[in-house]
Amino acid sequence: MALTKRRDTALAKQSFDYAPAPEAVDHVKIADRYGLFIGGKFVEPKSGKHFPTINPATEAVLSHVAEALAADVDRAVEAASRAQQSWGRLSPSRRARYILRISRILQERARELAVVETMDGGKPIKESRDVDIPLAAAHFFYYGGWADKLEWAFPNRSPRPIGVCGQVIPWNFPLLMLAWKIAPALAAGNTVVLKPAETTPLTALLFAEICQQAELPPGVVNIITGAGKTGSLLVQHPDVRKVAFTGSTEVGKLIQRSTAGSGKRLTLELGGKAANVVFDDAPLDQAVEGIVNGIYFNQGHVCCAGSRLLVQESVAGALLEKLRRRVDTLRLGDPLDKNTDIGAINSKAQLEKIEGLVESGREEGAEIYQPPCELPAKGFWFPPTIFTGVSQSHRIAREEIFGPVLSVLTFRTPAEAVEKANNTPYGLSAGVWTEKGSRILWMTQQLRAGVVWANTYNRFDPTSPFGGYKESGFGREGGLHGLIPYLELN
Ligand code: NAD
Repeated sequence: MALTKRRDTALAKQSFDYAPAPEAVDHVKIADRYGLFIGGKFVEPKSGKHFPTINPATEAVLSHVAEALAADVDRAVEAASRAQQSWGRLSPSRRARYILRISRILQERARELAVVETMDGGKPIKESRDVDIPLAAAHFFYYGGWADKLEWAFPNRSPRPIGVCGQVIPWNFPLLMLAWKIAPALAAGNTVVLKPAETTPLTALLFAEICQQAELPPGVVNIITGAGKTGSLLVQHPDVRKVAFTGSTEVGKLIQRSTAGSGKRLTLELGGKAANVVFDDAPLDQAVEGIVNGIYFNQGHVCCAGSRLLVQESVAGALLEKLRRRVDTLRLGDPLDKNTDIGAINSKAQLEKIEGLVESGREEGAEIYQPPCELPAKGFWFPPTIFTGVSQSHRIAREEIFGPVLSVLTFRTPAEAVEKANNTPYGLSAGVWTEKGSRILWMTQQLRAGVVWANTYNRFDPTSPFGGYKESGFGREGGLHGLIPYLELN
């Protein structure tokens, strides 16, 4: 009997081993060096400086990109100001045509963009292929549709463009964040200077090529690369009329201070520490999938990640048992492998941040669970992690980890769930799992979060506004709301 059981287990294990299924990379061309994309052309930086961008899964250098400093930022903003005169006056249906053309080219080049996104950022290819790139194309398609309907979207408000927009984005969804920023700005008749994050500049530079391919008038989109200093020069530039920033709360506060009193429009999409709340009547197997998607999608590098699981005490044991079993099946490894669930951590600095917070969780007395999994020798990796026995005062319950680390807390009553969920300086997103429709509606009114998902998690759609409050920022991206920050409406 015991022997049969062992053989069954061995067979079961064998049948769950996946053969390697790496995505081909031979169709992708990454240049050794990139200049800045200003006025419709790639130009050498006046700073004379370049810096490497690496593949976080292998630590191999992929390319060198330019560092834009003051003179380069001036040049990019000048190009955008010049282009704004004609772009803002172009007939809206012609503007729409350019934006829709960009959407189509993004779809045509989707495979190449997905591979480059995965190589430069470390995310699993199935995510860049099925989520990042299609959603980026969908954003251009959606806002292309609004470009010639602004007067109907905002009746009696005479919508007009604002001018040059300075946009700074993070490294977790590089092309998608670019799309969230550039698509509504162009639809509203503005021009942009965008700075991607220093660890993931490559798809933004491919996007620059796509602007050329779409014959977008020179200067309407300008892409400048660099780190925090470049971003700071851009947002403080006096000719930038609107600043859109996605990134950490810390930098968001700096930007808010530096733009105060300048008359610039500002939207901030910042960090989060979302509660994913599971009630005792929830379909547990479905909830487990939502929890896994909520915290392990993109290695947990997601501002709206469901990083705090609040589970009703009576089902906590059963749910955690199912969750552990599910986490044991996650496959960590080569991000280019189509079977990979957990890819590489985006950078060494981010890995160190995750490791530090996980260490604090152990020291403060929470119990850690990590499935047995082998980490590749090269690159930056962190296994999926579950902390139980977490209390509100633990750092892992309060601070954004931005990694594949779940903190589990329990509650007894709906009121306690609400109190715990709202006990955070952030307010970006939340999840609710229950069969009761009335409880879902009640929870959405109680939770202080910009987005609340019910019986699902991490669902995005261009038609749906996204954004936070409290320390998660202000302003909305997506949907009709996403056009408002880019328009003069009086
Ligand atoms: P970060 O704030 O360090 O960097 C974000 C971007 O800002 C980068 O391009 C960076 O070069 C630039 N930057 C840095 N210092 C700057 C300065 N002083 N002035 C102007 N620009 C500056 O954040 P990160 O580590 O790249 O990203 C992770 C953070 O972003 C997380 O906290 C996450 O929650 C947040 N995020 C939020 C959303 C959202 O929609 N709310 C989406 C993605 C990421």
